[in-house]
Amino acid sequence: MADYLVRGLAFDGSIRVFAVDSTETVGEAQKRHKMWPTATAAVGRLMTGGVMLGAMLKGDDKVVLKIDGGGPLGPVLVDSNANGGVRGYAKNPQTHLDLNAKGKLDVGGAVGTDGMLSVIKDLGMRDFFTGQSPIVSGEIAEDLTYYFAVSEQVPSSVGLGVLVDTDNSVLAAGGFIVQVMPNAEEEAISKLENRLASIEPVSKMIQRGLSPEAILNEIFGGDNVEILDRMPVKFECNCSKERFAEGIMGLGAEEIGQIIDEEGKAETQCHFCLETYNYSKEELEAMIDELQA
Ligand code: ZN
Repeated sequence: MADYLVRGLAFDGSIRVFAVDSTETVGEAQKRHKMWPTATAAVGRLMTGGVMLGAMLKGDDKVVLKIDGGGPLGPVLVDSNANGGVRGYAKNPQTHLDLNAKGKLDVGGAVGTDGMLSVIKDLGMRDFFTGQSPIVSGEIAEDLTYYFAVSEQVPSSVGLGVLVDTDNSVLAAGGFIVQVMPNAEEEAISKLENRLASIEPVSKMIQRGLSPEAILNEIFGGDNVEILDRMPVKFECNCSKERFAEGIMGLGAEEIGQIIDEEGKAETQCHFCLETYNYSKEELEAMIDELQA
């Protein structure tokens, strides 16, 4: 089934909720970057969280998430939008560590804990929101929970899970974000805390094949959640030959002339989707003409 996200309200509107099945989306990133399991879990969790942060935006707004903890995986970068598109990569996609003490993929060890989680929201008209919080465990869900608390002052609970098969492909990926609104009553908050303390880890729910709606039902009990809308989710990269051409033109006529002299052509590759774009000598000369016009 194609990936999708649901957005809703719980306990009479005092809590807002998001849940997503991101299995194919994370699977696409794994295939493109030939990621090893620990890398897949880290990138997949940040993409799953990122697409839900994207769903909190409107119109053409975008959000970039970066976690850089000094671990062997290197920085992980994800960007997403309000329309369910998300892309992501890690500097070292072929990273895999031994399982941690709990027998789980050691995402925290791969990401590292010496650094920050950054969230940059591009709200259009040159309006940016930048938030940062120190990495707590490098396990991503915990780091996002902490980010919401300290940087956006929204008490939240984040669950993210990615299951990797023995052939390195993605078996299942998904997650939830639950946020307490300012109008929430103490009673609703304590009910929520009780539910969250008693549910199984999101990775187990994913393994059982639960849909986004079913994950929310596990958390709140069926009668307490109202689903407001559903949105398809997919791996999406907005790179293009034209966009990279603008980057090359930014080098200036002199440097492009040097590339023509030395290489006779140019090649660029998108970090997010690994698509490569080639520019012939003629295309590079046309750029110089345009710059000098
Ligand atoms: Zn791309």
